[in-house]
Amino acid sequence: MTDKQNLAEQILAGNRRALARAITLVESSRPDHRAQAAELLETLRGHGQEAIRVGLSGTPGVGKSTFIEAFGMMLTAQGLRVAVLAVDPSSARSGGSILGDKTRMERLSRDPGAFIRPSPSQSHLGGVTRRTREAIDLCEAAGFDVILIETVGVGQSETVVAEMSDLFLLLLAPAGGDELQGVKRGIMEIADLILINKADGDLKSTATRTCADYAGALRLLRKRAQDPDGFPKAMTVSALEDTGLSTVWEEMQTLTLWRREAGHFDRRRAAQARHWFEAEVREGLLARLRREPVKGAMTTLAAKVEAGEIGAAAAADELLGHYLQLDRDSAGGS
Ligand code: GDP
Repeated sequence: MTDKQNLAEQILAGNRRALARAITLVESSRPDHRAQAAELLETLRGHGQEAIRVGLSGTPGVGKSTFIEAFGMMLTAQGLRVAVLAVDPSSARSGGSILGDKTRMERLSRDPGAFIRPSPSQSHLGGVTRRTREAIDLCEAAGFDVILIETVGVGQSETVVAEMSDLFLLLLAPAGGDELQGVKRGIMEIADLILINKADGDLKSTATRTCADYAGALRLLRKRAQDPDGFPKAMTVSALEDTGLSTVWEEMQTLTLWRREAGHFDRRRAAQARHWFEAEVREGLLARLRREPVKGAMTTLAAKVEAGEIGAAAAADELLGHYLQLDRDSAGGS
């Protein structure tokens, strides 16, 4: 048996160490690792099981780790297996990760039913999203029931996480009504459940008011075709005191079941798969264009465009023609 078959079999058997190794492989940008990762993903495709992929966003301090830990432990206590992945666009820029801190979710990380993977350090969000997408596939192959994909929602990260999720949860803190304006309309439109966390102690009444404000705002949004009555929904929870979490899980299941029966679940996954295919093609082409000798031709042509010697469109045509010719030559030569 080869190592690769071995790794695939261990992943299918739910081995978390093998899963961690495979994720390291998909995170690598070395061409030989990329090839191995692609082969592994193809071997595993169609095996394993379909998990519920849950995107979760919220600003730092809102209680994401506390929520994920409490929610994750509730699920593992029911015998479900939970994987936590992170998309952290900050880690590349600042060198410090908002989400990657190893001391987070300590209890959950010791739970045999859970698997936690911090965000990969990649140079751009595109790289992080591709790896996360592949990590999701690996977690499904490893038999996880629920995959939580966490992000802080910096820049585009909420949208990219929503594009790889079946459900999207937005965690908010209790706040005065004015702050409702601070939540972008876009995120209101992708959220399936808005959870006002910290609904405990002194903050409880503020949380209830905030929740009513958001419930009102959600009602003003046009009803989405992929939602049953009452969704998207705003709810209060306390991750610290573990209240409302089982209701959140029930609502998630209700929504998922409804979408499955209405066909929206599969259609959404199919559209996502198509989207990622197209993104892979674009990325692959761009990566080839960044390689020599095309890169050199690009620099030369860019200088000519700057000097006004050739128009932008004509230069682009010339470059692409040059690239396609090289591609044909190399195909012919091999
Ligand atoms: P993250 O940055 O979004 O991951 O937030 P954390 O989970 O680290 O929580 C930030 C702070 O909020 C910590 O001090 C938590 O103890 C606190 N916190 C989280 N959830 C709750 C909650 O439900 N109620 C209260 N009162 N505090 C909470």
